[in-house]
Amino acid sequence: MSEKPRVLVTGAGGFIGHHLIKYLVGRGYWVRGVDIKEPDYEPTAAHEFQLLDLRYETSCLRATKGIDEVYALAANMGGVGFIERNRALICHDNSLINVNSIEAARLNRAARFLFTSSACVYPAYLQTNTEATPLKEEDAYPADAEDGYGWEKLFMERVCRHYHEEYGLETRVVRFHNIFGPLGAFEGGREKSPAAICRKVALATDGGAIEVWGDGEQTRSYCYIKDCVEGIYRLMRNSYCGPLNLGQDRFVKISELVDMVAHSAGKRILKRFDVTKPQGVRGRTSDNTRLRQVLNWSPSVSLEEGIEKTYHWIESEVTKQAQPAPKVSAASPF
Ligand code: NAD
Repeated sequence: MSEKPRVLVTGAGGFIGHHLIKYLVGRGYWVRGVDIKEPDYEPTAAHEFQLLDLRYETSCLRATKGIDEVYALAANMGGVGFIERNRALICHDNSLINVNSIEAARLNRAARFLFTSSACVYPAYLQTNTEATPLKEEDAYPADAEDGYGWEKLFMERVCRHYHEEYGLETRVVRFHNIFGPLGAFEGGREKSPAAICRKVALATDGGAIEVWGDGEQTRSYCYIKDCVEGIYRLMRNSYCGPLNLGQDRFVKISELVDMVAHSAGKRILKRFDVTKPQGVRGRTSDNTRLRQVLNWSPSVSLEEGIEKTYHWIESEVTKQAQPAPKVSAASPF
């Protein structure tokens, strides 16, 4: 048996969980993946994959049995359109998933528990300007988090702190800033801005127009999936137990992001701005000073490189979907 800790990744059927499992297996860890669904685009690399609904205590106890370290990624979430329309559902599902997961980890004597929080914990009052001031970890208070999803994440950050202080569980809290890359949702309403823009550009003709949510002036920073999983792993191995941003310093306007995707596609794309659509905060970027101090590392994949890879994966998926289904022959019993 491996000398390394036995690992559980929840949300293993999702975007980041799926990539994280590949990374951990590649580093020689034995990994159990748990989700309510299988990964969408390729089989899991996990040694064991359990289909479980982690809103239930019994499922969480099964998932964490015999596990030393938990990477808790499971969440009911999506892009800005989804989180602004499903606040009750998000608060209900994610509160249950999170408190049941950490309690089960404690009862089953796991040593470490890493919770995946979000830039959505930061207060709206610091994000009203497109010239976004980089958000430091301590800026989360006085709290005015994104309504629903952000408050739920902020609450779970506190739960992690209390489990650490009162039960001695080694908790880790990472705040992601817009993670993107291949194998993430790109349609159906749960996709985030880079994937949605890539899909729209892939479907557009050269010289055609795409709809862009908002006026295009809103700003964001993005972090490529390869850097994300490396950062998560480094944090789990580190002794730092406060919340830690994981993102890139550079921020761009959504309009610039569209131009970047169009460049990767080799297409001329016109933008039709729709200010009636949800667009989230006006400007948001990450201060990564503490990330560099604590992990002695920072993300290195450029936005251009990440977008190039993401665009070409989404384009290939869109092309596959556009192909006609094979004809059923007359001899077929179906
Ligand atoms: P994702 O939606 O691709 O993955 C989440 C997974 O959780 C899904 O596969 C889903 O089926 C699973 N899940 C939902 N409800 C469940 C349940 N009841 N039981 C078991 N599994 C359940 O999202 P992701 O982008 O991979 O995000 C992973 C984590 O990182 C989430 O906690 C998310 O809130 C957080 N996060 C992500 C980003 C980002 O940019 N992707 C930003 C901030 C925070």
